[in-house]
Amino acid sequence: MPRLSEVIAALDALWPAERAEQWDAVGTVCGDPAAEVSRVLFAVDPVQDVADEAVRLGADLLVTHHPLYLRGTTTVAASTVKGRVVHDLIKNDVALHVAHTNADTADPGVSDALAGALDLRVVRPLVPDPTDEHGRRGLGRICELEHPLTLSEFAAHAARRLPATAQGVRVAGDPDAPIRTVAVSGGSGDSLFDAVRAAGVDAFLTADLRHHPVSEARAEAPLALLDAAHWATEWPWCELAAAQLDEISDRHGWNLRVHVSKTVTDPWTAHAASSPSPRSSSTLGAPN
Ligand SMILES: [Zn+2]
Repeated sequence: MPRLSEVIAALDALWPAERAEQWDAVGTVCGDPAAEVSRVLFAVDPVQDVADEAVRLGADLLVTHHPLYLRGTTTVAASTVKGRVVHDLIKNDVALHVAHTNADTADPGVSDALAGALDLRVVRPLVPDPTDEHGRRGLGRICELEHPLTLSEFAAHAARRLPATAQGVRVAGDPDAPIRTVAVSGGSGDSLFDAVRAAGVDAFLTADLRHHPVSEARAEAPLALLDAAHWATEWPWCELAAAQLDEISDRHGWNLRVHVSKTVTDPWTAHAASSPSPRSSSTLGAPN
């Protein structure tokens, strides 16, 4: 049975901490390097429901995409929301490790997993990492569809293939526009519009898109936009990462049990569709 330090070393080889953004907080949050690991759970968010799931499962290690403390803290008292998570994890011998922006830009990374979930063929990174001579690492991915779809068909496909959330997939664009090339970026993609425009793709699928950037992007180019729940765009990475750790475990004879959390941690819980107005010509992709 491997020690936590050995499993963490394997994870660090997949997602080196030095490739995380300066502002990020990746790496091991809690855990004893000498502890033995037999069961690992992957999840997007280190929230209480996921910590409870890890404890129920008997996991020794929880690996999440989002940091628990992004900006540091002066207390882990159990009277605080995050301190409660720290207490429950430590009391139950569950280590917590974070791979965030270092997993976003990895090859394969978060957006490769998103592209895979949507059956898209990855062509290249949307914003290549200049330190990667092979041109495979970077933020987002530019992808091709195997067969062109209309925007409404592609949106319905995305809503089917991504894990279900209250939001579903919001769409901006002509529902009949043909979609052959798509930029995808797991998580908040607001900052990537310049790169998306430069790539000249038919559509951009990401999360957390806001009024002004979408409005401006739509005015400048015939670019279709698809906005899914942040959690839903990053969850496919958990399956990819679990498969990567499974393969490492087989290679080392570790016999790890690797799980992917099914807990929906998208904070939005319901969606009330508006009654149709003269301008809303379509309800494509909208959940009931
Ligand atoms: Zn995220």
